[in-house]
Amino acid sequence: MPTTMIAYVEQQRRLVSDGDAEPSDGGDAGQENIGALDVAAAAAAGDIALAARDFGGMVFIPPATLLRPSTTDDVVRAVCVARRSSRLTVAARGNGHSVGGQAMARGGVVLDMRDLGPPMELVRCGGVAADVPAGALWEEVLEWGVRNHGMAPTSWTDYLGLTVGGTLSNGGIGGQAFRHGPQVANVAELEVVTGDGERRVCSPSLCSDLFFAALGGLGQFGVITRARIPLVPAPKMVRWIRVVYKGFEEYAGDAEWLVTRADSEAFDYVEGFAFVNDVSDPVNGWGSVAILPGSVFDPAKIPAESEPVLYCLELALHHNHRGAAGVDERAKEMMWPLRYMRGLVFAADVSYVDFLSRVGRSEEEARANGTWATPHPWLNILVSSSDIADFDRTVFKRILRRGVGGPMLVYPLLRSKWDPRMSVAVPESEVFYLVALLRFIAPREGDAALEEAVAQNREIIGCCRSKGYDFKVYIPRYESEADWARHFGRDWARFVERKRRYDPIAILAPGQTIFARAEPPAAAP
Ligand code: FAD
Repeated sequence: MPTTMIAYVEQQRRLVSDGDAEPSDGGDAGQENIGALDVAAAAAAGDIALAARDFGGMVFIPPATLLRPSTTDDVVRAVCVARRSSRLTVAARGNGHSVGGQAMARGGVVLDMRDLGPPMELVRCGGVAADVPAGALWEEVLEWGVRNHGMAPTSWTDYLGLTVGGTLSNGGIGGQAFRHGPQVANVAELEVVTGDGERRVCSPSLCSDLFFAALGGLGQFGVITRARIPLVPAPKMVRWIRVVYKGFEEYAGDAEWLVTRADSEAFDYVEGFAFVNDVSDPVNGWGSVAILPGSVFDPAKIPAESEPVLYCLELALHHNHRGAAGVDERAKEMMWPLRYMRGLVFAADVSYVDFLSRVGRSEEEARANGTWATPHPWLNILVSSSDIADFDRTVFKRILRRGVGGPMLVYPLLRSKWDPRMSVAVPESEVFYLVALLRFIAPREGDAALEEAVAQNREIIGCCRSKGYDFKVYIPRYESEADWARHFGRDWARFVERKRRYDPIAILAPGQTIFARAEPPAAAP
């Protein structure tokens, strides 16, 4: 197909000669084979430049091309072409919400997974499940499931503008994870295109090693093209509650007590965050606690001797068959032993869809004030419960006492909900905390604020290491093999062996900078 081939080469030249683009170093290798791709699926040059960026906004890595596969066969073709070339790599791009270039491929092929089909489908396999294309956003899964079937998955991230394949390649953590496990623990089957160009269906009982490798596998073992996600009846309404604590000890004690209760006595959702004890900070201060606009945060309720940082426990209870009165009673019963500051309680009854979509409203605000487009030096860490009190003293109360310009989540999870056969690395202890420092930088703050934030992140990681905490970075980004080996610990050998088995010449997800692309195997004589 000569015309499309020319179109492709022009796109590539334009990209390389763009003033703001670095030359891609895979150019020749790309041209040697790229003609074999169905470049009818190739995107326009402007979109190719988009694939060089992500939500983090801190790295810019141009690919040779961006393809929009609509079928698994398109994905197979792209991987096979890369495999025959000497240097091409392939990165699946979900919604590009990584913050360190993880979905990029320098001089390689980026697959924009958003157009992948076929459409979602309800399947009955013991229970009810949805077969979902990996490029679907979780908000699309929610909308489709609730509207068409009154059903929904059980485990969610806070923000739903992420793809199914993207969160399953990392973990997918939210307030339901203490009870149902993270999203990677709520999958019945995957279809995956491995680095040898094979399309494989896997599950806990079929090709189970590949199934568990791909879950939290940072895209290293295959491009996930379809996931089967179990569904349950969706509740209509949710009681959404926030209560404030003045001390970390009571906050963490109560949060751990709540996440270790039997299911019949548990909330449906438990999260929480640290915030700055300051009225004047609209992002990190008292104003971040209210649920509904117009709720009043009464400062008289905060003791004068309070620390610079306070804590907010966030809970939710599904109405199910209970109705509002039943939920009142149940919530009261479940909350009376908690040690929050009486008088600092915020609650609202909202629809299930509105509750799960709550961060979408913050996205609208951030887009309006420009902070969605500025760099996001985010840091997510999983810290063992045995170290979290010291972490609080060192990090929240000292390093971050003025906040991070966005949410500082800190809430407990249970290791027993994470299958150790999956690739995700988590701390050793049964209870560990997700600490998410979701930094937003106002447009006027500029490079100095970015540098300060990056330096703070480095200081926090350095501190976790020097104090010998049991911790893991969640959604990690390391450059050296030694760092990756340390990250995976005793599972590093398994990770390397799985790479050898499923992507032996390291074509996939090069933006994770774990393995270097190798030469293709010599053709048989
Ligand atoms: P991308 O960033 O596009 O890709 C991430 C990695 O996965 C890349 O290496 C990519 O190559 C690989 N990948 C993508 N799709 C596939 C596929 N189909 N097959 C194989 N590999 C693939 N995380 C949580 O756990 N909980 C949260 O509550 C949460 N909230 C967030 C809120 C915001 C506003 C943002 C920006 C991120 C949040 N995250 C959260 C982090 C999120 O899980 C990661 O950004 C993740 O990368 C998913 O984003 P994505 O779908 O855009 O994937």
